[in-house]
Amino acid sequence: MAWQCRVQGLRTLVIDDPRPDSASRVAAGLVTPVTGSRFAVSWRWPEFFPAADTLYQRVEKESGQSFWSVTPAWRAFVSQDEAKLCEQKCKNARRQFDDAMVHLDPIDVDAITQAQLPTSLATHGGIQMAPTARLDVPRYLDATRRVLQSEELFVSAYLDIDRDLQPSLDQVVVPSLGLTARWAVLCQGNLARTNGWFSDLPLHPARGDILMIRSRSVQLDRVLHHQGWIVPLGGKRFLLGATYDRHALSTDGHDDAARRWREELCMRWTAMTGEKFEPDGAEILEHRIAVRPASYDRHPLIGAHPRSPNIWCLNGLGSKGSLMAPLLAMKLIDAMTDGRAIDPSLLWDRRPKGS
Ligand SMILES: Cc1cc2nc3c(=O)[nH]c(=O)nc-3n(C[C@H](O)[C@H](O)[C@H](O)COP(=O)(O)OP(=O)(O)OC[C@H]3O[C@@H](n4cnc5c(N)ncnc54)[C@H](O)[C@@H]3O)c2cc1C
Repeated sequence: MAWQCRVQGLRTLVIDDPRPDSASRVAAGLVTPVTGSRFAVSWRWPEFFPAADTLYQRVEKESGQSFWSVTPAWRAFVSQDEAKLCEQKCKNARRQFDDAMVHLDPIDVDAITQAQLPTSLATHGGIQMAPTARLDVPRYLDATRRVLQSEELFVSAYLDIDRDLQPSLDQVVVPSLGLTARWAVLCQGNLARTNGWFSDLPLHPARGDILMIRSRSVQLDRVLHHQGWIVPLGGKRFLLGATYDRHALSTDGHDDAARRWREELCMRWTAMTGEKFEPDGAEILEHRIAVRPASYDRHPLIGAHPRSPNIWCLNGLGSKGSLMAPLLAMKLIDAMTDGRAIDPSLLWDRRPKGS
C-alpha cells in the first residue's frame, strides 16, 4: 500500500509493530498460477500477476535490494488420476498435452519427464508451470522499512487504534504521534479484530506452519509442489510448507498443535525427498507459525469505513498476499483519491447480512 501510494505521489507514513509472527514475516511468498487438487487457475491471475510483477520490480530498483524472482516451478503429480485430471484440464482448453509445450495463455504448462523429478516423486510425472514467482517477504519488508526510515516515514510502534485514530470530516489525526493525514488505511491482518473500526471484517483465519530444513542430500534448484511445497534457499537450506489449520490458531511453537504439525511436515519431507531426519539425515533449523488473514470466501476485503470515509482497510489476503496486495492497493488508491467504485466482489462488507 505504501509503495503504490509513493508511485502515485502520495506522501505516506507507515506505522507498524513488526511482530515476528505476523503472516508476512512467516509467509513463503510463493506466487503460483495453478493451484489445488483441481488445477484451478488462481482467481483473477491475469490482473493480479502483472500488477505484482511491475510493482516488485520497481521496488527492487528503488531500494537497490533483490527479493522478487520469476522462475518456473514444478508440480509432481500425486497419482495417475491427478496426472489424468491435469491432462483433461488442458484438453478442455483445447490444447495438446503430451511431451510438447502447451500454452494456457497467459500461463505456460510443460509436461516434465520422470527423469527430471526427484526419484521419490517421479512415478506419475509432473508439470512445469510458468510464470511462477517468489517474493522473499521478510527481505522486501526490511528493504521497504529502510527506504521509509531514511525519509522518516516509518514509525515502529503499536498503535491503540480505538483511542489514537481520530477522524474528522476531511482528515485523520493521530494525537499520540502528532500526525495529521488525509487518509488512514488499516492493513492489520488478523489484528483488525482487536479494534472497533473493522471488527466486523468477515475473517476466517487459518494458521500455517513452515519448517526451515538443512538437508544432507537433496538437490533441487526450483520450487517443487506436491503435497505442499519445497522452496530451495541455497546452501542446502529449504523451506517446507505449508499446513492449513482453522482450529488451532496459536503461534506457540511448543504446544500440541505445533508438535503435530511439525511431525506432519517431517513426514511430507521424507515422502517428497526420500530423506529421513537426524542423526544421519535432514535437520530442522526453524519452525515458523503464523495465522493467515483469510476471508469467509477466500477473496480479499477492501473498502472504506461506512461512517468515517477517510478510514479504509486492506485485508483478507489469505494465502495470496504477495500476489494480490499490489493490485488491491491500486484499486484502493483509485477509490480514495478519485472516488472510483470498487468492484463489489472485493468490498469488505459484501457478505449478505445474516449469512
Ligand atoms: C505459513 C504461511 C505461509 C504463507 N505462504 C504464502 C505464500 O507462499 N504466498 C503468499 O502470497 N502468501 C502466503 N501466506 C499468506 C500471507 O502471509 C498473507 O496473505 C499476508 O502476509 C497478509 O499480510 P497483511 O499485511 O494483511 O497482514 P500481516 O502480515 O499480519 O501484517 C499486519 C501488520 O500490521 C501490524 N499491526 C496490526 N495492528 C497494528 C497496530 N494497532 N499498530 C501497529 N501495527 C499493527 C502487525 O504487527 C503486522 O506487522 C502465508 C501465510 C502463512 C501463515
